[in-house]
Amino acid sequence: MLLAFCYLYAVSEIIISVNNLTKQYLQTQNSGVNNISFNIKQGDIVAIIGESGSGKSTLLKTIYGLIKPDNGEVLLNGKKVKGPDEQLIPGNAEMKMVTQDFSLNIYAKVYDNIASMLSNTDIAGKQQKTMQMMEHLHITKLKDKKIIELSGGEQQRVAIAKALISNTKVLLLDEPFSQVDSLLKNQLRADIKRLAKETGLTVILVSHDPTDGLFLADQLLILKNGELLQNDRPENIYQNPSNLYTAQILGNAVSLTRQEAEQIGVKTVKNMVVFYPEWVELKSNWNSRRFEVKEVYYKGFYDELLLERNGVIIRALQLNSGTHKKNDHVQANIGRFLEF
Ligand code: ADP
Ligand code: MG
Repeated sequence: MLLAFCYLYAVSEIIISVNNLTKQYLQTQNSGVNNISFNIKQGDIVAIIGESGSGKSTLLKTIYGLIKPDNGEVLLNGKKVKGPDEQLIPGNAEMKMVTQDFSLNIYAKVYDNIASMLSNTDIAGKQQKTMQMMEHLHITKLKDKKIIELSGGEQQRVAIAKALISNTKVLLLDEPFSQVDSLLKNQLRADIKRLAKETGLTVILVSHDPTDGLFLADQLLILKNGELLQNDRPENIYQNPSNLYTAQILGNAVSLTRQEAEQIGVKTVKNMVVFYPEWVELKSNWNSRRFEVKEVYYKGFYDELLLERNGVIIRALQLNSGTHKKNDHVQANIGRFLEF
């Protein structure tokens, strides 16, 4: 009985299932997405990270029903999402997609752009909902401005408000942070996270920038050449990347060949060794080796050190900024590393 309940609960949490989805534009390889499967839980933020051309937009459009897959299907709450050939207006009433061009009426006011999504049968309700949504996205003071007078980041917020106002359950964002500078980026990320937590909205965003995924997402997918390489919580992917590509796309990793690794005292059997700067221990023990500090990069509350031994350069973090200086010698040990 209890087991059955737990099972039902687990199943009802899934809002989207992507099953064996394939879309190839050309007969040649790597021109779309290939046999992709994953589930999304209701209320989660899912980030799909991959280089340009890896198939992110294709995947997003197929989930939304704009592209007919060659194979496989997308289920929204257990119901198949219809493709463009199966309905008059492609897309899905419960999902909304915001692309990089925002699709706003640039000569109309912010308020009217958002309100235009609601019917006129309940004028008071329409006003109230529109004002509420503008507050949610911190754009109330832009109410009477025309879209053409706004910055890229402000337009982005209007586009999201417009997408969310008609009882949207799933928000699809294609490269949402590409036009926003870094301060606004952080605010927008925080707002998206807050919206998802407050309203139960499910968000799928695709980006070429892995930091978007790591800091925002509940679930992170790594896409390469149309293939899904890894699907897990961001911290699990960061700590245990299943392949060299994933480790490298997450940004900060040091990768060495087996020969280079041997030069700094790391013995391995596989061809590549990967570790993060924070896994390098700056201390003297039985296992540590002597390195020369080649460069010190000030990062605020820590330094990043470039260390060299036998011609091999690695990076390490120094939490007490300023302890070791350029040309100093330090003892360092690679406390943890991965082999591929
Ligand atoms: P991303 O969004 O990750 O940059 P896309 O999904 O846009 O990647 O594209 C994935 C691959 O499919 C790319 O190699 C791209 O050139 C190809 N592709 C995308 N759209 C089309 C199309 N309409 N016709 C032919 N090839 C396409
Ligand atoms: Mg794209």
